[in-house]
Amino acid sequence: MVASRVGLGYDIHPLVEGRKLVLGGVHIPFERGLLGHSDGDVVCHALMDSLLGACGLSDIGSLFPPEDPTWKDAESVKLLGMVVRRVQDEGWDIGNVDIMLIAEKPRIAPFVARIRENLAQALGVPEERIGFKVTTNEGLGSIGRGEGICCFAVSLLVRRKP
Ligand code: MG
Repeated sequence: MVASRVGLGYDIHPLVEGRKLVLGGVHIPFERGLLGHSDGDVVCHALMDSLLGACGLSDIGSLFPPEDPTWKDAESVKLLGMVVRRVQDEGWDIGNVDIMLIAEKPRIAPFVARIRENLAQALGVPEERIGFKVTTNEGLGSIGRGEGICCFAVSLLVRRKP
């Protein structure tokens, strides 16, 4: 039996006017927000896919299909809680996660502490197990032009001792 497993997640959403910007379940004041069927929270989406990938389960698209009206404008941090329960049901504990958010604007640094706190709560682990880093794309490409925000996440799961 494999004692630990790693999973990778990635997500990107366009930034548009008339939407709230929510990252890691934290509302960040900005003139634009991420477009999506749910709240467009790329942090939670990338993290959920990394957790599901580590378990060998499918992905958030199959778990929460965009065509299902149940998930319209859903708070992604709540969906994250559902994924965590699913992971636990499969007999895994969360070892640690590491997240890399890439955003040209707005400045995310002032919100990092709150995002980590929120994610630690959703995952039911101490904050020290949540790595959360933010960088810009140095003005390059669509992310660099501020047309969207993307996020990578890796999760390490540890087999729960019987
Ligand atoms: Mg998404």
